[in-house]
Amino acid sequence: MTVEAHKETLGFQTEVKQLLNLMIHSLYSNKEIFLRELISNASDAADKLRFEALSDDALYEDDSELKIRVDFDKDARTITITDNGIGMNREEVIENVGTIAKSGTRQFFESLTGDQAKDANLIGQFGVGFYSSFIVADKVTLTSRRAGLGSEHGVCWESAGEGEYTLETVEKPTRGTEIVLHLREGEDEFLEAYRLRSIIKKYSDHISLPIVMKSQNNDSGNEEKKDEDETVNSASALWSRSKTDISDEEYNEFYKHVGHDFQDPLTHIHSRVEGKTEYTSLLYIPSRAPFDLWDQNHQHGIKLYVRRVFIMDDADQLMPRYLRFVKGVMDSDDLPLNVSREILQHNKVIDSMRSGSIKKVLGALEDMARKDDEKYKTFWKEFGRVMKEGPGEDFANREQIAKLLRFSSTHDDSEEQHVSLDDYISRMKAGQEKIYFITADSFAAAKNSPHLEVFRKKGIEVLLLSDRVDEWLMSHLTEFDSKAMVSVARGDLDLGDLDDKEEKKQQKKVEKESKDLVKRVKDVLGEKVKDVRVTHRLTTSPACLVADENDMTANMERILKSIGQDVPNMKPILELNPEHALVSRLKEETDNERFTDWTNILFDQALLSEGGQLEDPASFVQKLNKLLLELSS
Ligand code: ADP
Repeated sequence: MTVEAHKETLGFQTEVKQLLNLMIHSLYSNKEIFLRELISNASDAADKLRFEALSDDALYEDDSELKIRVDFDKDARTITITDNGIGMNREEVIENVGTIAKSGTRQFFESLTGDQAKDANLIGQFGVGFYSSFIVADKVTLTSRRAGLGSEHGVCWESAGEGEYTLETVEKPTRGTEIVLHLREGEDEFLEAYRLRSIIKKYSDHISLPIVMKSQNNDSGNEEKKDEDETVNSASALWSRSKTDISDEEYNEFYKHVGHDFQDPLTHIHSRVEGKTEYTSLLYIPSRAPFDLWDQNHQHGIKLYVRRVFIMDDADQLMPRYLRFVKGVMDSDDLPLNVSREILQHNKVIDSMRSGSIKKVLGALEDMARKDDEKYKTFWKEFGRVMKEGPGEDFANREQIAKLLRFSSTHDDSEEQHVSLDDYISRMKAGQEKIYFITADSFAAAKNSPHLEVFRKKGIEVLLLSDRVDEWLMSHLTEFDSKAMVSVARGDLDLGDLDDKEEKKQQKKVEKESKDLVKRVKDVLGEKVKDVRVTHRLTTSPACLVADENDMTANMERILKSIGQDVPNMKPILELNPEHALVSRLKEETDNERFTDWTNILFDQALLSEGGQLEDPASFVQKLNKLLLELSS
């Protein structure tokens, strides 16, 4: 067959060029990882072939011994990585190495600051894979052919990593991918067998198929062995080995392969489950959130294997959404090899692997929280907001998840979330039966909310919640350890035994004395409020707004509106503090116009202080100025 000599030049997606520059600079100090990345891709390609061949044996084309070769040529100054995996056709090459097909790429580039040192830190989150070849190579030639006898032509991609690449249709008798790295000036250290071998041992020992190199006569001292292939790695699935035989380094390197990450994970959880369903799982908690954790299309990080055979990436049935940051593999002994995504959805084996694994992950996190405070802090900083989705999503494990949650609180007013519900309970006042919290749309708004005044005065701790997900969390986490979770901005505040008899008596008295005032204010505000009453929450502010017991809080209403939800306008309850000088002055006011102005100012102030927006800000300012002028004249 003849192949048209047709070579075309294409431009990289702009982002690719930017990415290459950034990567070469930021990863240079760790440049040997290019080999790990290419081997990792080759191994994935072999996994994919094995999987597709389950239903189409012909894909093996009489060569079913899957392996990865690493060769080098001192004279040509090249390193060549070859696999006989699934390969790529022309479209796939363009899609995979001419663009960055990952969702959320644009946001990632927007998050770059231009500051090399800062951005270097971000690059690992992105996972650069194939492109890391350009750290050591100034030209890369990739030749690939998709498995299957129908696809006889291969495609050759070549680039100097500078904005363009060429594509050419070529003859390629063997399936799979061959990557030739033309080394940059000064990178000759990689043209040594022992160096390449030690890199493979260090980073890729866990790869389950053989990585072979030509045996070198100067290495073995044996002329006859020259040109023989030698397997450099252990070539067995890491997770199927016994825990005691695996070092932390091996666990970590395997993580970088399955997790497409550059950093070590925080921890790993390796377990073999025997009994009714049998499976092995090796799960990891990363030390950093990936850039697309909040992307709707974020890929789950679990790979499913069946008896060592790779079945699929991104097996989202195996982990709930709130644990979507967990990466690793699960290998079932029970599933059929031809299992499809559809089958996974209602499958007893999967359900049992899933619930078992959730328990394992939650247990490992509990352990980490108990034994390693620093690590847990890192975990919480990166994944805390995702964990907060847990109680709403996973009813069965709600209590266990709740134990793992961390919050800011008035205990130390620190923005860093480090107070657990158990900490809170251990500090509860005598007579306190409830766990109090406030939600607001910023930490400052929560911390400075007038709703906290009486709690601060009495030294009762309140959790300060200002993550968006907190409203959702609290609507599902209504109690913990048999104690009700109560918003301080909702309902009629009843502190129970935390108020003594004298205080209760005083409250009743003030309520009675304020009856007229309350009625007048209510008449002025009319439809704006659901009710007006005397407050027990305030010590220094004149007024505040609260939500009725069963209404959503103003914060929730704002969140829902901001995401375009149609929600009815909730009317707040205005609470007045008769002890405040402004309110007692208002009580004495006989001029109706002034009474109306002042009342409206009080209402608007209360709305502002809880982070709300005024319906008519101009009129608020006018009234305020009028008042100021009166005072100064
Ligand atoms: P990642 O591996 O994180 O997806 P890469 O940039 O390393 O990112 O690779 C992009 C894609 O190119 C891979 O997902 C895969 O589809 C394809 N690819 C890379 N190397 C190979 C290979 N040796 N064989 C087949 N496909 C490959």
